[in-house]
Amino acid sequence: MREGYDVAQICMNGHVIASTAGSSPEFRKSFCDKCGETTIMACPDCQSPIQGHYHCPGVIGFFDYDAPHYCQNCGKAFPWTTRALEAARQLATDDDTLSADESERFAKDLEEITRETPQAKASAGRIKKMLGKMTAGTGAAIRDILIDIASESVRKMIWP
Ligand SMILES: [Zn+2]
Ligand SMILES: [Zn+2]
Repeated sequence: MREGYDVAQICMNGHVIASTAGSSPEFRKSFCDKCGETTIMACPDCQSPIQGHYHCPGVIGFFDYDAPHYCQNCGKAFPWTTRALEAARQLATDDDTLSADESERFAKDLEEITRETPQAKASAGRIKKMLGKMTAGTGAAIRDILIDIASESVRKMIWP
């Protein structure tokens, strides 16, 4: 395998099936063995291959691979990112402890923390405060979702 990105196969809920699905077709699955969803190897919007494991000549072994949040070619959120954001937003709405304004702000902040942006830290701070207002069960459920989609620095800020 020459140097460069392999193609990843990921299920619609964001479970990584294989980070080397392009070069190793034997690892591919039609459906996810964790949730039963269909799997994709290309962006549903622009059909560009999903970047997988990066092959370096001379380097053997596999490193942690996380499903990307946004398409590197068209910038659209991948289905799992959209679903996770929607689920977290729904949990916050159902919890009923936030005002309408806060809910709206929370939804915007959620989106921000999936991106590596200068605003993400401010959003993380607000999310932390709002999670504190919610019931413990809701806070824990939202944490489980965000831990997969938030950037590393944001995770450390909200849950040190
Ligand atoms: Zn899955
Ligand atoms: Zn795309």
